[in-house]
Amino acid sequence: MVVAAVALGAFAAATAGQTLTGGNDQGESPEVTPLAGTTDASAAIGVGGGKTNSISSAAPELLTVAKTTAAPLEAQKIAATDQIVQARAARLAAIEAEKKRPKFVRPAEGRLTSGYGARWGTTHYGLDIANRMGTPLVSAADGVVIEAGPASGFGLWVRIEHADGTVTVYGHMDTITVNEGETVQAGDQIATMGSRGYSTGPHLHFEVWDADGLKLNPLPWLNEHGVYY
Ligand SMILES: [Zn+2]
Repeated sequence: MVVAAVALGAFAAATAGQTLTGGNDQGESPEVTPLAGTTDASAAIGVGGGKTNSISSAAPELLTVAKTTAAPLEAQKIAATDQIVQARAARLAAIEAEKKRPKFVRPAEGRLTSGYGARWGTTHYGLDIANRMGTPLVSAADGVVIEAGPASGFGLWVRIEHADGTVTVYGHMDTITVNEGETVQAGDQIATMGSRGYSTGPHLHFEVWDADGLKLNPLPWLNEHGVYY
């Protein structure tokens, strides 16, 4: 009974204390504020750890571990997202560039000096485009180099096959800058202008053969693909 009475008394005292402070409008603040101000609380929020060595190192270490683990994960997530965004942007840029780039171009800059047709008692099967020695010669369209080297009358020639079976032929060049089997795009340099073979001065002799090997008039073929001289 004695024990119970003491306990009851303690309970009564505690209740009385709560009632006294609780009756006040600011009653809860005095009880909470001192707790937050204790050493343990400041260590738990990582403020006191750096200032005082005497404080238990457990809390600051836990916080440090949490930070070092979270930061790389977050950085990895950001880096991964950046990579996805950049890869997507690069793909879109490549698609746009592919749409915009010309699919047919002039094989050489210069002056038309001979067209397709009868010439000097024979048939001239190509266009002659004259310019300075060494002028860059480019593939007129996307294709694959099927031949690059010496050829009778042409001196040197390059033949490029295109997706529809059409073959463009380039002759008289001074130097060839592509190899057989090489894939080229319209505008890629393939050679430099020269005067080798049956030629009276630096010019490109340009032919267009259809899929059956029939030699077409290159000028309307170029015009059909938006290329003019
Ligand atoms: Zn010619």
